[in-house]
Amino acid sequence: MTPPAPDWHQLAADLRPRSQAVIDGRLVDAVDGATFPATSPRDGRVLVEVAAGQATDVDLAVQAARRAFDAGHWSRSAPAHRRRVLLRLAELVESHADELATTVSLEMGKPVTDARTIEIPALVTTLTWYAELADKLLDELPHTEADALAMVTREPVGVVGAVVPWNFPLTMAGWKLGPALAVGNSVVLKPAEQSPLSALRLGELALEAGLPDGVLNVVPGLGPQAGQALGRHADVDVIAFTGSGTVGRELLRYAADSNLKRVYLELGGKTPNVVFADAPDLAQAAATAAWGITFNQGEMCTAASRLLVQRDIHDDFVEQVVAAIGDRRLGDPLDPDTQIGPIVDEQQLARVLGYVAAGREEGASLRLGGGRTLQDTGGSYLEPTVFTDVDNDMRIAREEIFGPVLSVLPFDDVEDAVRIANDTVYGLAASVWTRDLSTAHRTARAIRAGTVWVNCFEEGGLSVPFGGMKQSGNGRDKSVHAIDKYVDLKTTWIAL
Ligand code: NAD
Repeated sequence: MTPPAPDWHQLAADLRPRSQAVIDGRLVDAVDGATFPATSPRDGRVLVEVAAGQATDVDLAVQAARRAFDAGHWSRSAPAHRRRVLLRLAELVESHADELATTVSLEMGKPVTDARTIEIPALVTTLTWYAELADKLLDELPHTEADALAMVTREPVGVVGAVVPWNFPLTMAGWKLGPALAVGNSVVLKPAEQSPLSALRLGELALEAGLPDGVLNVVPGLGPQAGQALGRHADVDVIAFTGSGTVGRELLRYAADSNLKRVYLELGGKTPNVVFADAPDLAQAAATAAWGITFNQGEMCTAASRLLVQRDIHDDFVEQVVAAIGDRRLGDPLDPDTQIGPIVDEQQLARVLGYVAAGREEGASLRLGGGRTLQDTGGSYLEPTVFTDVDNDMRIAREEIFGPVLSVLPFDDVEDAVRIANDTVYGLAASVWTRDLSTAHRTARAIRAGTVWVNCFEEGGLSVPFGGMKQSGNGRDKSVHAIDKYVDLKTTWIAL
């Protein structure tokens, strides 16, 4: 029998969000007592005042992480031990799924059904996957001449600073923590200021799971304070970042100015979703295009924000997409039927509305939405928006909006589609819809993007790498390749 669906409003009312940093196995306030408000975009209410980590707090966390690393209780423990502890953490996340889903939904506005059925399972799967990998990794013995033995071993890098965004607060954290912890590193996690609460709870659950003190520290705080302090810290070996290109550039500067730590960047995107007239199922392609720009309020690095439609089907297809977007339910993220929640905060809402204004000024035709809505709730809601007659030189086609704003561009043939698709500084993801094998392969091969989906969108499990080309970043999350970011290769050459 399926258990009754939770009463999300009751869970939200009962929630006691965590507000203290997790440093060296303890829950602590910021040393100077500073706090910042965690505000819900659902209704503008302050959920709790959260410890605002400063350089001193970050330093304490890094010191604890280094001590834990040097002590070896985690870093030199048997891989099977790390597997067991990470599996226990995955189980704890699963058993707290309703609470965590409520927390995510409240703090950043994700519809609770998506939080419960997509975000939390993604974290569980990620932790489980890397836990299982922990005791299955192999090192190398290259062939050498008879009088030598060479070993190439993978060693954990030491202290990893993970700086993550708010759009998938737990999934993005999990993509860093899973591989980093599985191979024995210590981590200092800096969640986004819009979504610290779920990360703090995760840090607490990690202690319960048996991660030794100091192995996972969670320091909430503002980006220019806590984030910068982590980026500049001389004893952090690697920064694993997901977020905007602007902050990614800052982190590279911090590394150059401090200890040349390695910086891995998962940045933004401007995904071309290319629909050829011979797509196998145009209705499905239209429904997916609608989903791809409204899922998670369009606050997706992979959001299908540029819809490229072959000219002969353009008008009909746009009709279908507009209708499908109109059918998506916008509203209270705690309502289980809601499909589009509020924009994460007032600042981001203003930013997105700025792009809507820019689209109009630059001559695109507003086909749907474009306005703020549900203002009486006190929340930050925006109508999903569709622009047609978009030229790829317009700002709405060039810049990442990170909201539910779709730009539709017509194209003529494969060459034209590829030219427009690649005319961007980004290279994170792309999607191609066609029943022709040759068109599919030619287009997928020619588009410069870390992921290309064919006749689908946003698919792919933990076994495939995810990340960007061009200004969408470097390094990869997910898959065995993510391990590379968190290990150093050591060559040991022995004369026999
Ligand atoms: P952001 O870059 O503003 O913030 C990300 C993180 O960086 C936050 O924790 C923030 O506090 C921190 N930060 C801010 N200023 C900092 C500074 N000066 N020094 C150090 N840290 C600082 O991004 P956001 O608004 O939270 O998230 C949206 C962005 O994330 C979009 O560009 C989106 O495309 C990107 N994103 C990328 C992926 C991916 O996998 N490629 C996934 C999700 C989101």
